[in-house]
Amino acid sequence: MSYEPSRDLLTDRIILITGASDGIGFEVARFYAAYGAKLLLLGRSINKLKQLKHNIAKFSKQTHISIAFDLLNAKPDDFKKLASDLSTQIQRLDGLLLNAAILGEIKPIAQQNPAIWHQVMQVNVNANFMLVQVLLPLLLNAQHPSVIFTSSSVGQQGRKNWGAYSVSKFAIEGLMQILASEYQDSHLRFNAINPGATRTNMRAAAFPDENPETVRTPAEIMPAYLYLMGDDSLSINGRCLDAQPDRNPSNQ
Ligand code: NDP
Repeated sequence: MSYEPSRDLLTDRIILITGASDGIGFEVARFYAAYGAKLLLLGRSINKLKQLKHNIAKFSKQTHISIAFDLLNAKPDDFKKLASDLSTQIQRLDGLLLNAAILGEIKPIAQQNPAIWHQVMQVNVNANFMLVQVLLPLLLNAQHPSVIFTSSSVGQQGRKNWGAYSVSKFAIEGLMQILASEYQDSHLRFNAINPGATRTNMRAAAFPDENPETVRTPAEIMPAYLYLMGDDSLSINGRCLDAQPDRNPSNQ
């Protein structure tokens, strides 16, 4: 999509990004920081988060916070502690981008390994549910809070071999719609983005024979992430936006 935000779109907005250490999340962090946000960068590798903070420090004067947190192994109490620790550092949360996910196995349902199926559901669905639940009080303290989930074309139309990943993205679309409906009379809104085929490690793992040059870079899909996080989309709630509406969804 095309969108030209004003340079102060996210000035002093406090935004938490999951899966900020790589791929799309890494690029979103750079863009949100460039538009003035103060970031809470969540990932499982503290070293990768350090590299990101170093990268962002070249152009952002905000103090960003790294959060080393493993969404796969965290228990409900760990999510509660995360929110309670954050509450001592911030009074509100203006934005939450739920971007982290894992691919699992590209195999027919008959061959999907149940242990890996559960891992995909834990990271892609359960962790998002628990994060939103514990962060609701901080989100409700903000003036125009925006929560963005991350879907996929296979979260809207089932496709053979996409197994747990596809089912998890259907669940994310449902979770987003339920929350949007539950908070429709409030100032808190919930939407999703379908990034479309994007040049990252996950895309390379899903399509090992593809020439990466044929798919867009994370930087090219940033307009959708800026639009849904900022106030130009205040009237949008309960929708999933395509970051690449001009590309064929059957290839994403
Ligand atoms: P990547 O695999 O490149 O990045 C995924 C991010 O999630 C990484 O930062 C990774 O951390 C983090 N992550 C994975 N597991 C955990 C965990 N247990 N705890 C904390 N963080 C974790 O994926 P993409 O950037 O490609 O994907 C981003 C989102 O976009 C996902 O939701 C994906 O489903 C969706 N999407 C992507 C498409 C594409 O073509 N790329 C197409 C459609 C949807 P680490 O750095 O440690 O690996």
